[in-house]
Amino acid sequence: HAKSNGRGRAEHFSDRLAIQMADRVQLESELREAVEHDQFSLVYQPQIAAADGRIVAAEALLRWQHPEQGERLPSSFIARAEETGLMVEIGEWVVQSVARSIARWGALGVEQRMAVNISPRQLDHAAFFRRLREAMHDAGAPARLLELEITETLAMHCSDEVIDAIAMLRADGASIAIDDFGTGYSNLARLRDLPVDRVKVDRSLIEHVAVEAEARTIAQAVIGLIHGLGCEAVAEGIETQAQLDVLRVIGCDVLQGFAIAPPMAEADFLAWARSAPGEAIRAAG
Ligand code: C2E
Ligand code: MG
Ligand code: MG
Ligand code: MG
Repeated sequence: HAKSNGRGRAEHFSDRLAIQMADRVQLESELREAVEHDQFSLVYQPQIAAADGRIVAAEALLRWQHPEQGERLPSSFIARAEETGLMVEIGEWVVQSVARSIARWGALGVEQRMAVNISPRQLDHAAFFRRLREAMHDAGAPARLLELEITETLAMHCSDEVIDAIAMLRADGASIAIDDFGTGYSNLARLRDLPVDRVKVDRSLIEHVAVEAEARTIAQAVIGLIHGLGCEAVAEGIETQAQLDVLRVIGCDVLQGFAIAPPMAEADFLAWARSAPGEAIRAAG
């Protein structure tokens, strides 16, 4: 039985593989076009202070307006962009855009920190920090309003050169956040040596805080560790009021997630910021 199906299965498998490879090649060429034809945009998600609900920052998140498929999320293309090296160019666009957004919002009286996600490929690129500085300078955006988000895994593998460059950027006033904390394997001794201001506790660690005593204990311990390192704790991916309440009680400093607001286009973000600062948290009591 197995034998008679073997050939069919092999063909089926190689067909699938061929389709997958064609898809990957197609995606790569579409990404090149996206870079050339300016199909990217940013959306912004607020981060609020647990203490009083005031907005402390916005995280800029990348969106791709695909000509046929409409809006595409980073999970569907970032890995491929990384593999092909296109992430360097896309990341360059992100950094330029964030610098201009900071300046534009500042002119509107919204002087607020903006966080930007940085990919491994970008940090590898020797010119990254120089171009980042230039982008901020050319846009007239002060470094103190910029935060770089670097994933835990990436942070653990930064070269000494990159750590030095990060330290210099921090000396200019920019801040650094470790993203997705709790999903990688941190060398805690190394974490101590990194120049970091905030640590973002990954959604997977806060998902069950309102329904499982163990999950709450772990989140509380992680927040204690972050405070012990002299950093602020940020919770990301907060989806319910119950999670939000627990996170405030266990001492999380900054809150981010759908329960507060989703990522929004610029106009929506600015309208939200004007109309409801503090609302999310006041509702929480
Ligand atoms: P991240 O930096 O950890 O960003 C948080 C992600 O969680 C965002 O997904 C955001 O929309 C989503 N999110 C926010 N609140 C909630 C919530 O309450 N529940 C759930 N389930 N999700 C929530 P998004 O925008 O799809 O981005 C996914 C990832 O792609 C980001 O994870 C980041 O690693 C990467 N990314 C996004 N923009 C950029 C960029 O400009 N450059 C680079 N290198 N990576 C980016
Ligand atoms: Mg992030
Ligand atoms: Mg994250
Ligand atoms: Mg995440």
